[in-house]
Amino acid sequence: MRVSIIGGGLMGMTLAYHLVKAGVDVTVLEQGAELGGMSGELVFDQGLRVPRSQQTFVPSDSGLQALCAELGIDNELVFQSARAGFLHQEEIHPLSNIIDFLRFPILGLRDRIRLGNLIWRARSPMDWEILDAVTAKDWLLETVGGEVFERLWKPLLEAKFDWVYDHVSAAFVWAWLNRMSSIRTAPHMAGSIGYLKRGHYALIEALAGAIRSHGGKIETGVRVREIELTQDGVGSIRTSKQAETFDRVIAAIATPNFMHLIPSASSIYLQQLGQSKYLGLICPVMVLEKPLTDYWTLHLTDPNYPFATIIETPHPTQSDLSLVYLPRYTAPDNDWMGVSDEDIRKAWISHLKPLFPEFDEQQVRWFAVTRSRYVEPIYAIHAARHTPKFATPYTNLYLANSSQVFPELPTSEAVINHARRLAQEILRQPMNSVSVQAVP
Ligand SMILES: Cc1cc2nc3c(=O)[nH]c(=O)nc-3n(C[C@H](O)[C@H](O)[C@H](O)COP(=O)(O)OP(=O)(O)OC[C@H]3O[C@@H](n4cnc5c(N)ncnc54)[C@H](O)[C@@H]3O)c2cc1C
Repeated sequence: MRVSIIGGGLMGMTLAYHLVKAGVDVTVLEQGAELGGMSGELVFDQGLRVPRSQQTFVPSDSGLQALCAELGIDNELVFQSARAGFLHQEEIHPLSNIIDFLRFPILGLRDRIRLGNLIWRARSPMDWEILDAVTAKDWLLETVGGEVFERLWKPLLEAKFDWVYDHVSAAFVWAWLNRMSSIRTAPHMAGSIGYLKRGHYALIEALAGAIRSHGGKIETGVRVREIELTQDGVGSIRTSKQAETFDRVIAAIATPNFMHLIPSASSIYLQQLGQSKYLGLICPVMVLEKPLTDYWTLHLTDPNYPFATIIETPHPTQSDLSLVYLPRYTAPDNDWMGVSDEDIRKAWISHLKPLFPEFDEQQVRWFAVTRSRYVEPIYAIHAARHTPKFATPYTNLYLANSSQVFPELPTSEAVINHARRLAQEILRQPMNSVSVQAVP
């Protein structure tokens, strides 16, 4: 069986790995010059490599840790203190353990108790189908009240979901609280967060090595432009280099990108896919000579900043350098997408200075901006109804992406587990090859 996987991100690479291990002839086609997608790397001059986005895992992410062990890179797994806080009215308020929580000045005592109660409840499983029918806003207003919502949840939701924050399902907030509270353990509720020493790219590299050693093929710099659809199902796929046929084609890419590849699909199917909405992301990263904060993550409560979170870690291999990510989630067509890197740098840094008076732009050794139009599915209410299935209406054509992990969060852990299950599903199906003419 010849299988083509479109997309060399974590999903595509994990799928390819499980399939080649089972003896399938797999070819991964990745449009980028490097593999990894969101788990990729930026390479600065002097060869400094920096994770494209800051990727962490929680101690209960067993699928990711097992995959690293299987690939022989579990020595890359490290944990650091999950020191978190809020930047409110230009002051930092830690929120990393029970003492911080008891002292947290942004909320009054009664509101702290209500919030604490919600966080405690979120540690248990919940009927997500009920929560999926309610907006996060309505649910939070009812459970924690207007004050906690306005001061804490609204800025958090706006930071993550920008213009659609009030459509997001309560199931998302529950899943997020459940994951975040799982890292904190009694009695002090302090927690730790894991990451790979060389970033998630170490995992991508190890997957690539294993795929090749099992005879799989990986082609980078090859953009798939169209998937031909025939009456029998999937035909050939046309890439920036050639047209080729496979027995099965798995598109491991975001749903809007998949839609562009199948213009001849039925309007009903395209309409269904069109209901899956995505967030875009602009993510400047600074490499600093000295740390900006001593927090892993700081949430900003003021919507006037162009970024809403400050995420900081030491450089995975050069501990004298500090990496600061300043992400802004946006609509895929938000104006910021077209703003030059230089103007983004000016805007972002001008907002950092009042917050950190000791920060000096001279400390910025490297600065880069990454942009992605379709970075993460939006879990709007009734998300389950709109989630596209792995099997498409076209025989031997499949779609695999992180929107399908709902009601889980679209984390690396969820992607790794989903890819493993999908590979099993492919392996269970009877071989039914479709042979068609190449597109001229
Ligand atoms: C800013 C950010 C921070 C995150 N932090 C965390 C975290 O801390 N912990 C965590 O667990 N998860 C995190 N995630 C989520 C995690 O990164 C994703 O779930 C995971 O990387 C998704 O992988 P993917 O393969 O589905 O998608 P992608 O990484 O987007 O890969 C898709 C690939 O397909 C390629 N492609 C697209 N179209 C074509 C085409 N036509 N032809 C060929 N190739 C194509 C792309 O170039 C890309 O390489 C984060 C995500 C973001 C955006």
